[in-house]
Amino acid sequence: MSQPGPSTRSVHLTEQVDEATRSVVPPIAANSAFAYPDVASWRAVALGEADGHIYARNSNPTTDRFEAKVAALEGAEAGTSFTTGMAAIFTTLHALLRPGSRVVTVKDTYGGTYLLFTEVFPAWGVQCDVMDTDDHDAIEAEIRAGCDLVYLETPTNPTCKVLDLARLSAAAADVGATVVVDNTFATPINTRPLEHGADLVLHSASKFLGGHGDVLGGVVCGGEDLVHRVYAAREIIGTGMDPQVAALMLRSLKTLGLRVERQNATALTVAEHLEGHPRVTRVNYPGLASHPHHDVAARQMDGFGGMLSFALDGGFAAVEEVLPKLQYAYLAANLGQVETIVGPPATTSHVELTDAERAGAGIPEGLVRYSVGVEDAADLIDDLDAALAT
Ligand SMILES: *Cc1c(COP(=O)(O)O)cnc(C)c1O
Repeated sequence: MSQPGPSTRSVHLTEQVDEATRSVVPPIAANSAFAYPDVASWRAVALGEADGHIYARNSNPTTDRFEAKVAALEGAEAGTSFTTGMAAIFTTLHALLRPGSRVVTVKDTYGGTYLLFTEVFPAWGVQCDVMDTDDHDAIEAEIRAGCDLVYLETPTNPTCKVLDLARLSAAAADVGATVVVDNTFATPINTRPLEHGADLVLHSASKFLGGHGDVLGGVVCGGEDLVHRVYAAREIIGTGMDPQVAALMLRSLKTLGLRVERQNATALTVAEHLEGHPRVTRVNYPGLASHPHHDVAARQMDGFGGMLSFALDGGFAAVEEVLPKLQYAYLAANLGQVETIVGPPATTSHVELTDAERAGAGIPEGLVRYSVGVEDAADLIDDLDAALAT
């Protein structure tokens, strides 16, 4: 039999009927500690000589299942999970970087990530070169100049730029650098960065993986050894995911393929529609032939994702006028959930940046980030048309 597809993996992997109860959905291991019948068997687990769990900050059967499922979707050997996406990113970087390390990254990373590279890690003596996201030649040259870690995010937030993972990972491999990719926007349904040469892939599971806007989480996947280094930092720092959250994430993952395929299709329809609208000056969506990185996206992505952004004629005043008129979109900071979510980057992902930094990242004040939910495409288009009518 051929390899099971992503939706089959989402539904079946790591799921077993519970022996004690015959429950199809395994019970949640909602506990802090694990008890042993004697000191010798407890000690064997503590020393890693036998399988088992000691304390939930270290590991828990329910979070284990979530990690294994995401790892299977990403084609990774192992995974480790976190309270939030930022906890995943910070803990990973903290585990892999040392004073004197050199990082090559890009300007268009998530707002919080950008601050890690421009403020937090430089203060600890890590050299971070934050490159223009559009300039692959310059990014590649900077990697080839020698570095320890390459940190990428694709498609980017909020302008949906696409980085060529195979090209940049090959350059990193030549200089022995570890490649870390934030795959939050694409999801493993659309892109699996490890297939293109990345070493670690991470997610804000608060977005598409959770998908329902009711939980926060993060996850990092990759080879056994690298993930173990990240895990070792996580268990000390205490940034691990709670099992109740992991159970909700496991439920969400079963519909990941369904949701993302729907969101891919609707986002493309909405993007094509907005591209012809007189009040819209620009649409950023990797699935459009007009997108500057459409060729790379077509090679690297199985679908173009549920996120798009568009610029309104009239700047921020137009954003303030149009957004409240939308009936089927929440004005909120999240993305990737079943409800359509809309917002200006100036109040969401890039609120920490100054006006000048936002402009430098190519984010015009009239830009609107639109995260497509699972509503009917025709309704979303009618809604946008009504809000955009003056
Ligand atoms: C939201 C987000 C993060 C941060 O995740 P949290 O779960 O909010 O901490 C990181 N990267 C991307 C691309 C995001 O969208």
